[in-house]
Amino acid sequence: MKEKLDQIRQEALKQIADSDALDKLNDVRVAFLGKKGKLTAVLKGMKDVPAEERPLVGQLVNETRAAIEGFLEESRAKMEKLAREEQLKREVIDVTLPAKKNSVGHRHPNTIALEEVERIFVGMGYEVVEGPEVEYDYYNFEALNIPANHPAKDEQDTFYVTSDIVLRTQTSPVQVRTMEKGKLPIRVIAPGRVFRSDEVDATHSPSFHQIEGLVIDKNITFADLKGTLAEFARQLFGPETKVKFRPHHFPFTEPSAEVDVTCFKCGGKGCRFCKGSGWIEILGCGMVHPNVLKMSGIDPEEYSGFAFGVGLERIALLKYEIDDMRLLYENDDRFLKQF
Ligand SMILES: [Zn+2]
Repeated sequence: MKEKLDQIRQEALKQIADSDALDKLNDVRVAFLGKKGKLTAVLKGMKDVPAEERPLVGQLVNETRAAIEGFLEESRAKMEKLAREEQLKREVIDVTLPAKKNSVGHRHPNTIALEEVERIFVGMGYEVVEGPEVEYDYYNFEALNIPANHPAKDEQDTFYVTSDIVLRTQTSPVQVRTMEKGKLPIRVIAPGRVFRSDEVDATHSPSFHQIEGLVIDKNITFADLKGTLAEFARQLFGPETKVKFRPHHFPFTEPSAEVDVTCFKCGGKGCRFCKGSGWIEILGCGMVHPNVLKMSGIDPEEYSGFAFGVGLERIALLKYEIDDMRLLYENDDRFLKQF
């Protein structure tokens, strides 16, 4: 009996030593210690052992069981430790590897310039209003005193959707829509995208942005216009900036002017940036034409006002000394991340 038990023990220990996985250890446990296992079979045979030998055999069986269980437990612990170490090796993080950088977006130079202009006018009590980019011919031209035969209405210059719907060529229709609401006085700026049938070059694009301003109240004069735009120029280009008004013609204002500011690079002495003149043209403006007021239901005898329009890209190009407008639309990260 003792030999049989020794044999079982040897066999079990060898199988445990040969096991290379936890489930194999479990198979060994079942094969020897399970209900139908080899050691259990020995216990079942105890009835054939003479009574006086039973305690001794029982002890031997227990010793064998303990030996097999002990070795099983030891092997299991070793295997688990090994598995854990391998997992740690697999999951190790090399902190010396260069990090993968997420590129964080930022504001486009157009947006920075727009926010600057909005900040200045909101500071002077203006409201920012917006309107549709696809606009009725009436709002884009007719209500702005631009008659049907005006060259600006030519299909060469304007994108027509249908005969009476256009992609707006200016943000002035927003002014008309604001006046039509009939709430006076008015003090608004209208920024937005506009469209003209232009070829793309360094200073032209079929789609660009304008910011227009409109003030209507009692007793508004050209002096208010000059004072407002002079303050705007000083805030945008620096406190030393001077403005110059040159007579001009726009259908929707009378009188009309184009505004130059002293060159912020040379202070007016003349340099390469201002092409030697000392002045840089920045916007168009004028007193709102009485016809425009009348068409929007405002009495020109009682109310007067001024309007101005500035190209957003022009401001961005000047402010950041960019020499080609196309750079603003190309979405080249190497260019854009400089601002
Ligand atoms: Zn200059």
